Amino acid sequence: AIRMTDFDAALDEVEPTGLREVTVEFPAVGWDEVGGLEPAKRELVRAVYWPLEYADRFAEMGIDPPSGVLLHGPPGTGKTLLARAAASLSDANFIPVNGPELLDKYVGASEQAVRDLFATARENAPAVVFFDEVDAVSPKRRGDDTGAGERVVSQLLTELDGLEPLTDIVVIAATNRPDNIDEALLRPGRIEKAVETPLPDRDARREILRIHAREMPVASDVDLEAVADRTAGYSGGDLAALVREAGLLAIEDGIVDDGPTTDSTVGRGHFERALSETSPSTRDGRAGVEPSADDRPESDRSAE
Ligand code: ADP
Repeated sequence: AIRMTDFDAALDEVEPTGLREVTVEFPAVGWDEVGGLEPAKRELVRAVYWPLEYADRFAEMGIDPPSGVLLHGPPGTGKTLLARAAASLSDANFIPVNGPELLDKYVGASEQAVRDLFATARENAPAVVFFDEVDAVSPKRRGDDTGAGERVVSQLLTELDGLEPLTDIVVIAATNRPDNIDEALLRPGRIEKAVETPLPDRDARREILRIHAREMPVASDVDLEAVADRTAGYSGGDLAALVREAGLLAIEDGIVDDGPTTDSTVGRGHFERALSETSPSTRDGRAGVEPSADDRPESDRSAE
């Protein structure tokens, strides 16, 4: 028979999903694995690397480092990648959380999840807390929720305000919908810097293609410059997928040919086919919105 002691034992073993899903990573993403995005990189160096590495300089200057940065831009433009790279650069742990997931926790556990999250961050300091889809917790979207968003935001504010200046925790938030973010989160001392991660311009696309083809045996007839020219509107994620597709096509050719292949490189034909099979994944990208070097949107603005 199943006895009370069995339930007691089970209670010790099983944690509510809301409380256990904090994962801590120690990422190894090189700064040079992020193509383009110079303004965002600069801001992250100032907001993540400096405070964690040179806390004493801030004290000397008599200024507090920003406790958080908001990255906003279309999906696949490298927000997560950049946050990981910033943690890696700063030898910090990386703690990813996701807005909608935090709200899905069973009733009442969302605030506890936020408290647990910051407790975990403090135990694992120096740490970068990466808050993806942060717009999901905004009360601006109250229409479709149960007040959980509001409670999460207020708990978040409590935690952010409680972060003493110069502690070892930095929050990086990310969103595709910056207009939906609760303004209270963006006050000074909280997530005060907003930096855009736009779709890559031509030079950035070339750089991203190079990064992803770095370990690929690319045939000499492949011109990545030309590929960069023809991929206006592609996000970094789309470009990574394109390179991967070209690689898969090359493997496919090798296997269909049967027997040992003579040529195990990825050729121009593979890139041509990959190009014809892929397209920009974002609406802006498909609309052909092409950021150019001279009319790049103001990408470094203070939130207030
Ligand atoms: P986001 O968080 O903005 O939705 P991600 O950071 O998850 O986008 O990007 C998805 C993938 O696309 C990354 O893992 C990476 O392989 C590729 N990628 C995106 N942007 C870049 C970039 N600027 N440089 C190199 N790779 C990129």
